[in-house]
Amino acid sequence: MASDLHTHTTFSDGRLTPEELVAAAKEAGLSYIAITDHDTVDGIRHLYEEGLYPSKSIHIIPGIEFSCEVDGHDVHILGYDFDIYNQDLADKTTELSESRWDRFSQMMEKLQGIGYAITESDVLQMAGTSKSIGRAHVARTLVKKGLVGSVHEAFDKLLEYGQPCYVPHYRIDPEEAVTLIRNAGGVPVLAHPKLVKDDATVERMLELDFGGIEVYYPKHDEEDTARYKALAEKRGLLLTGGSDFHAVPHRVPLELGIFTVPDELAAPFFHPPQGLQ
Ligand SMILES: [Zn+2]
Ligand SMILES: [Zn+2]
Repeated sequence: MASDLHTHTTFSDGRLTPEELVAAAKEAGLSYIAITDHDTVDGIRHLYEEGLYPSKSIHIIPGIEFSCEVDGHDVHILGYDFDIYNQDLADKTTELSESRWDRFSQMMEKLQGIGYAITESDVLQMAGTSKSIGRAHVARTLVKKGLVGSVHEAFDKLLEYGQPCYVPHYRIDPEEAVTLIRNAGGVPVLAHPKLVKDDATVERMLELDFGGIEVYYPKHDEEDTARYKALAEKRGLLLTGGSDFHAVPHRVPLELGIFTVPDELAAPFFHPPQGLQ
């Protein structure tokens, strides 16, 4: 049987609601599915509060993905199998979400300031059920309104670092992310190390209290996979993997179940949530 330890829902930048994602995972015959939305555990909390987590028909693992920046490199940190009602974790995700809304407002002011006829409500309408508004939503709205030719152009000319409507991101420090996940009872995992684009930074990050490395990932080729597997084994870390499924058209993988890992890799992160009140 197959499992997937890296997926996103409408609680971050995925297009399926948690209910739809779980249904798609069952449809694909997955045994374990981890929901790893950016900066939030609200998707899992929502499933729990709706009585859909835990589920009898599929093993759901609570997860999260934090984005950090280290010397200009994007370092993503996954967390698994923690207390979804941990207070420190909740406080940090609230802080990250508030800073995201601030950033959105500042971005809109900058766009309006240089004459773009776009409003916050245009973007919110475009974002639909998404609970987390980011640059991609702004870019898509600019395209929809005919103000730029493509999402790529929106980033290139306006929203990217160095462009007139760029607003810096508040990011969590990697050590803080790892500590938060550990203190909530979870396991921090270094996400898709290839995308860090610098193995020296990867090695340096692994000095933190990580429990695993995401060795199996759609953008890792055979050689990358072997290299990161060896690194995990050398350091006695768990091997993990996932598809990073977003249900975004044209973004690989297009469906759940195309990129999976063996159940043995997911099982260590599954503990039935009896402790929840
Ligand atoms: Zn990531
Ligand atoms: Zn992801």
